[in-house]
Amino acid sequence: MRELFPIIENVKVDLKSLISIKHKCDPGVCNGKISCCAEYEICMEKDEVDKIIAHTPGAAGFAPQLKTNGLYNNVFDETDDNLITIDVDEDSQCLFAWRNSNGEVLCSLHSHAIKSNLSSYDTKPGSCCLWPLAIYQGSPEILTVQDDAFNFDCNKKQESKGAELDTEIASIIKNVYGDKMLVGINHAISKM
Ligand code: SF4
Repeated sequence: MRELFPIIENVKVDLKSLISIKHKCDPGVCNGKISCCAEYEICMEKDEVDKIIAHTPGAAGFAPQLKTNGLYNNVFDETDDNLITIDVDEDSQCLFAWRNSNGEVLCSLHSHAIKSNLSSYDTKPGSCCLWPLAIYQGSPEILTVQDDAFNFDCNKKQESKGAELDTEIASIIKNVYGDKMLVGINHAISKM
């Protein structure tokens, strides 16, 4: 039977949306245009902040605004609902973002991961790892595509014929949720 919102690994999965998008992160593509690092408020649970703080020294090698007079700035704020956000600069750009010599906006946590042979999934906030996918609140929570994702040039509509996940979208799901989730989603897509 066709099931467009199956529950897989305790998450309600919006299959139609997931197969509708292809994604390729290339900082050159958003140079001079809107960038995901200047568009969203990044929210984290408190326990995720420790991960970010652990990688801030490495990130500061790329993003000097993270330090003042040799000391690390507090770049976090607490929201009314007990989440933690990352501060932004006057251009609404996340304070972990930096520009390379080509003027491209890059994530310093990601750059630090590459330089240190780490996975960027282990250095960046979960919501950044998931982009252009997003989790929406619900019971269970819903995995879908960020509602304005197609405003960004790194995201394109995927032809519906064949009905399968784009390689990069599959990689995001695998890295964030694990193999079992990806297998479950692919199986559900094959039954659509
Ligand atoms: S943490 Fe990195 S990926 Fe996330 S918004 Fe900031 S600069 Fe962009």
